[in-house]
This record gives sequence, structure tokens and C-alpha cells, in this order.
Amino acid sequence: MTKTKRIKAVIFDLDDTLIDWSGLQGTYRELFAPSYGNMRQFLVEQGYDMPSAEDWGRIAYECVVEEWTEKKKTYAGANFGDAIQAMLKRCGIDPEKVSLKEIMLAYGHTAAPGVEPYPDTHPVLSQLKTDGYKMGLITNAFHPMWMRDPELEKYDLIKYFDARITSGDTRFMKPHPAIYWRMLGLLNLMPEDCVFVGDRPAHDIQGAHNVGMIGVMMDPPHLNRGFEGTNPDFVINSLSELLPILENLN
Ligand SMILES: [Mg+2]
Repeated sequence: MTKTKRIKAVIFDLDDTLIDWSGLQGTYRELFAPSYGNMRQFLVEQGYDMPSAEDWGRIAYECVVEEWTEKKKTYAGANFGDAIQAMLKRCGIDPEKVSLKEIMLAYGHTAAPGVEPYPDTHPVLSQLKTDGYKMGLITNAFHPMWMRDPELEKYDLIKYFDARITSGDTRFMKPHPAIYWRMLGLLNLMPEDCVFVGDRPAHDIQGAHNVGMIGVMMDPPHLNRGFEGTNPDFVINSLSELLPILENLN
């Protein structure tokens, strides 16, 4: 008879937990500028009288910042669609007349240059799969999951996950308990069955603790974050360190 494990699932954050942003080339604003340019081009092709590329870039940036600032006040899950609607309104376009899905497709989200999984991401996830753990992914991204999935496919990570959610889809962001409960519902598990692994204590670890889940802080050398008032159950500097922790918990 096989022994029943105490921990049945590992739920991960994505950015800086499974993929390494330390090698990002350029700034975030530079990174997203071409995608916002694509959106403008799409709207021009739809016949809309659009602001100059420079003005549109500024409007897009401001609307994104406003969306995050506003939603973060209640951890209500910044939402890309809401930000796009604000951008359209600022340009005098009725958001009801444009397909959000088509604009998002035109945006053309891609993996960021210089960003890659850590060297031990695949070996560790593969081992967890072999050991029979369920795996979940919760990212505080304002994009819908379908926009981030091609990134996971590019990194060949998508195959490991039983469930994946973004805060944009869920309309709640970490550390709000609702986004954790959504994942638990998808995995059909309770908090005590799971371990959460993430790099941002105030979001990832606090959120895990808010629902009574074990929180493992991923603290790779390039981040060196403080604990931000939280008390992580474990701190690891690389994903490989997770395996003995799970073995001990079980
Ligand atoms: Mg992260």
C-alpha cells in the first residue's frame, strides 16, 4: 500500500519564481512599447483616427498604471481589458464598438527577451510530476491566461500544470484569499494539502498564509528581497531546495 502524502499539490508563482527575469534586456516600458504600437496599428486599420504613436504610448502607459494603482487598493485584480477600455475612451473611441479580444490578439504578447526558466526549473517540475504532485500556477498578471500561455509553451512549462490562473481573469490578486480559493477549487484540494512557492513575500507568502497554506519564499540571488513583514515557512535560493522540504513535510 502506498503511503498517502500530506502535501498533494505545489502551487507556484510564475515570474522570478519559475522564470528568471534577471537577464531582461531593456526596461519594462521598452519591453511593452512594440505591443502597444501593434494595438495602435490595429485601431488605425479599423479606421479610427488615432493619436500620434508617441501620445498613444503615453496614454497606454498612464492607463495601465492607473488600472494597477486603483485595483491594488482592494487587491481586486488589475484587468487588461479594463485598461484597454480606458485607453479607448481617452482617444474618444466607444469601447463597445471594438472587440477587446481582437485588440488583445493584435497586441501580440510574447516572452520577454533575456527571460528564461532557471536551470533547475524543468528538473524540479519534472520530479514533482513523477512524485505525483498536482501543480498549479497563480500569477498576478493583468493579462488573461490565454495571453500568457504561449510564453509557457515557449518555455515548455505548460505541460506540468493542472490549473493556471491570472489575477486579471480571477478579478482578485494575491494576497487576496479569493484567488487562492479559486485555485484550490480547480485542484479540488484544501489549503493544508498544498504548498505555495513565490518570490514576493507581501503577495505570495502573505496570501498563502491568509488561507492557511504553507508559504515557501523563493529568494534567488538577483532579488535579495526582505520578508516585507511576513514570516515565510521556508526560504529557498533555488527551486532544487524545494524537493527535500517536501520530502520532510511528507
Ligand atoms: Mg513573482
